[in-house]
Amino acid sequence: MIPFNRPPLTGNEAKYVLQAIQSEKISGDGQFTLKCHAWFEEKLSCAKALLTPSCTHALEMAALLLDVKPGDEIIMPSYTFVSTANAFALRGATIVFVDIRPDTLNINENLIEQAITSRTKAIVVVHYAGISCEMNTIMSIAIKYKLFVIEDAAQGMMSTYDGKPLGTFGNMATYSFHETKNYTSGGEGGLLIINDPEFVSRAEIIREKGTNRKQFFQGIVDKYTWVDIGSSLLPSELQAAYLWGQLEECENILSNRMKTWNSYHSALSELEEDGYLRLPSVPKECKHNAHMFYIQTEHRETRTKLLEKFKEQSILAIFHYIPLHSTMAGIKYGRFNGEDQYTTKASQCIIRLPLFYGLQKNQLNKITSTIVNFYHDAIATTS
Ligand SMILES: *Cc1c(COP(=O)(O)O)cnc(C)c1O
Repeated sequence: MIPFNRPPLTGNEAKYVLQAIQSEKISGDGQFTLKCHAWFEEKLSCAKALLTPSCTHALEMAALLLDVKPGDEIIMPSYTFVSTANAFALRGATIVFVDIRPDTLNINENLIEQAITSRTKAIVVVHYAGISCEMNTIMSIAIKYKLFVIEDAAQGMMSTYDGKPLGTFGNMATYSFHETKNYTSGGEGGLLIINDPEFVSRAEIIREKGTNRKQFFQGIVDKYTWVDIGSSLLPSELQAAYLWGQLEECENILSNRMKTWNSYHSALSELEEDGYLRLPSVPKECKHNAHMFYIQTEHRETRTKLLEKFKEQSILAIFHYIPLHSTMAGIKYGRFNGEDQYTTKASQCIIRLPLFYGLQKNQLNKITSTIVNFYHDAIATTS
């Protein structure tokens, strides 16, 4: 069986987790968390980087920090994971969904302006498959209409746009360290990246259950107390320790995934040239992180048949994103602005191929030959 994903493990994670345990400080914001924070702050040159229990939590923090309230509208793609929308729906906002581009499956930057109303508060971009949205255009729109920008960069760590890391463009951004992402903090985890210094001090309060505990430890106040709304948003030191092992090996993980991504691309490019399927496309401003390798079939029925072939071969390939605007909650909390030209289509025709740190050459060959044979057989029977 070829799994769809294996959680990345490079070697030192267990050692660091054990060190965290032996330090007898295993709740949040211990030595490993501080090391991770410093690493991200240096790498991203951001005002603040804060580990959270998940990317979902980081998105919820961003919504709290923006003071999102009922009546506010938040623009985002419908082709995304539920957490992108849920974080803002939780604050009572209306989600305004916009169609995606057919090449990158990212929000279509040219459709954002027509979705803006006097109630619009923020644009949430999702860097799908670790390939950046068109940030130049999007940031100009945000400036013109005085809107906040939040980057859901759950899939985007180590990717860049115009040479700048994803997560450094918006007022705030989020990463995910779930086991299905490129880097994990032991299964679950996330990061809130704050670029706009205005949000830093309140973020530290919200993350500490709405208390000024941080100021207490700094000796600024002599008692810590409830000062704002907040929640329990620190991950355990065990998670940070695992993540530290991954950060030390981040280039190794990246190059290993990139090798697999490039092999997929070259093995399947002939099928794309012949018009049988579509491969991911990477705009020239973007450097990606090999988060995902997907193919898009011409029709939904072709996908169904190809997925059957994968199943026969014990290859776990999956598809995703029921367009949020078509879901029970999406109908209740949101609306689609404009025409759904590509969102539903992508959702019906995409297949994500196995891609993880350590995927073997023979596994890759089996997957690509399953696809190539599938199309050759199809051509043979129709001609
Ligand atoms: C994975 C993912 C999330 C959620 O991340 P968690 O860490 O599991 O909460 C949010 N948005 C996108 C686009 C994702 O891919």
